[in-house]
Amino acid sequence: MAPRMFKGAEWLVTAATRDEVFVPEDFTDEQRQIAATAQQFVEEDVWPKAGRLERHEAGVAAGLMRRAGEAGLLMIDAPEAYGGLELDKATSMLAAERLAWAGDFSVSYSAHSGIGTLPLVYYGTDAQKEKYLTRIVSGEWCAAYCLTEPEAGSDAMGGKATAVLSPDGTHYLLDGTKQFITNGGFADLFTVFAKVDRKHFTAFLVERTFPGVTVGPEEKKLGIKGSSTTSVIFESARVPVENVLGEIGKGHKIAFNVLNVGRFKLGAAVLGAAKMSLQTGVSYALTRKQFGVPIASFGALQEKFADRTADVFASEALVYRLAGLLDARLATVPKGAPRYYEAYQQGIEEYAAECAIAKVFCSEVLADVVDDVVQVHGGYGFTQEYAAEKQYRDERINRIFEGTNEINRLLVANGILRRAAKGEIPLPREPREEADALLAPEPGDPAAPFAPERAAVAGMKRVLLLVAAAAVRRHGEALKNEQEVLIALADVAIQAFAAESALLRAERISPALPEGKREAVAAAVRIHAFGAAEKAATAARRAALYVAEGDALALLLGAVRRLARLDAPGLLPAKRRLAAEALEAGRYPL
Ligand SMILES: Cc1cc2nc3c(=O)[nH]c(=O)nc-3n(C[C@H](O)[C@H](O)[C@H](O)COP(=O)(O)OP(=O)(O)OC[C@H]3O[C@@H](n4cnc5c(N)ncnc54)[C@H](O)[C@@H]3O)c2cc1C
Repeated sequence: MAPRMFKGAEWLVTAATRDEVFVPEDFTDEQRQIAATAQQFVEEDVWPKAGRLERHEAGVAAGLMRRAGEAGLLMIDAPEAYGGLELDKATSMLAAERLAWAGDFSVSYSAHSGIGTLPLVYYGTDAQKEKYLTRIVSGEWCAAYCLTEPEAGSDAMGGKATAVLSPDGTHYLLDGTKQFITNGGFADLFTVFAKVDRKHFTAFLVERTFPGVTVGPEEKKLGIKGSSTTSVIFESARVPVENVLGEIGKGHKIAFNVLNVGRFKLGAAVLGAAKMSLQTGVSYALTRKQFGVPIASFGALQEKFADRTADVFASEALVYRLAGLLDARLATVPKGAPRYYEAYQQGIEEYAAECAIAKVFCSEVLADVVDDVVQVHGGYGFTQEYAAEKQYRDERINRIFEGTNEINRLLVANGILRRAAKGEIPLPREPREEADALLAPEPGDPAAPFAPERAAVAGMKRVLLLVAAAAVRRHGEALKNEQEVLIALADVAIQAFAAESALLRAERISPALPEGKREAVAAAVRIHAFGAAEKAATAARRAALYVAEGDALALLLGAVRRLARLDAPGLLPAKRRLAAEALEAGRYPL
């Protein structure tokens, strides 16, 4: 069923029902076929070349990109007129998730098919698409995205790269250095951001072979060593005027809109990486023996598998719920309409906060998974003999690129506060409402399935609004500069959205599941909601302490205690049940 159209952040005030969310169980045969193709590509093409990729052997990464193109994996987001498939976001995310099993190459894939391709898809002229897009979606050419500079990372608009029109008006001359460019070592086409006349931030399509373009050496990195990361240097690089992408001075729109999708795609990719890592940990625990028994039999490790499985279930629910929200919205933009991609971009922009939530939540779930998986391996997890070590190193970058998790948290909080300021999200106006919230009865039928989790999710949202209102009362406009408060508010929002996504998915799929699976899903939701409520309560308390004092603080802390909590009866049996499910499957089981 098509999900109802929700505005961005509307979930904070309007509870969706189980039939209004997209869940992975909704995938069509066509979507499953694309996932199978991605998996086959990873296993047959990428894995055998892992060592050669890590040594950066010439032609290997570019050759794999061509193979990915032949397999149809680069054309998912591109328009049909240029050899694309123009499929929905759910399919695009599913492919990214499966490609994550390719390890280092998945970073190259994401950079090529996401931030490398989408600026051209969304903003290119027909002539630019004719010239470049067909080559990009076939994998004949590789793409890269050049925004970061040595002195401008998070402050992306603070870049120094310049573009000056040549005296004869036929070319721009680009000068500057771009830093940490994924696929830099072999990309044929760079989307480069530079300021025309030092003022007008603008995007350019720059071929590798244009005079004045050089590429620096490979960075020596902590992880994802088999992906290419280089600087790209422009010294009076000659870029024809017809290679300006979009409008002069409107480059920021391209940079930021494309990053929304990039963040969301990263959420899907790290979801795949988390499943892979969990499988590494579970299979090791089943074979390693200590004290005469497999270490998988120890409750200490089973608890890790249960907690992380529940987190991955929530990540998966969140990623595909967001895909459903975006797809429902984008389906209202008629294909071929004038300014189609402008409306399309607005559709994506609507969920900018949710894209940031996906990036932060899923990357931090992966961080917890890889850390636990090293621990499960004991000393062997610390050696390069085992995959756990590489997975641990590879994970780290996901909390840094596509906007650091701090920057993304600020986007989440500011996005919500902006909507509140516009009246889209009603914040309680005076402290009395906080007292009322304390006295309000628990919502819903306490005997209904998932009633405690539903109440906990409603409570987390309520607490967020209460604390946000107190923060606005305290700081007014200046709240945008109170980063510690904003980060705490974002933490509550992230936990609430994730827990609600897991809950809705469970409510949706449970009736059709066999009893054993139904129990495992119920266990996952309970375990996740318990942890989410604990984290949300801690963050909300932090925010309350930052913005309130005296009676107002006491009221807020009382509200947090009462609302952001899950008394989770049966938590221990739920953990044992879910761990057993993972151990029996030998992998992420849901
Ligand atoms: C392997 C790799 C691949 C990459 N690929 C690409 C690519 O293909 N294209 C591309 O353009 N870039 C790419 N990047 C760059 C990446 O996006 C940046 O590294 C990232 O945005 C952070 O910028 P920075 O490294 O300059 O850190 P800084 O911006 O200097 O941040 C340092 C610290 O300060 C914090 N901080 C900064 N500003 C604020 C603020 N306003 N409020 C609060 N905290 C703040 C950050 O969160 C961080 O903790 C890549 C980086 C790496 C390492």
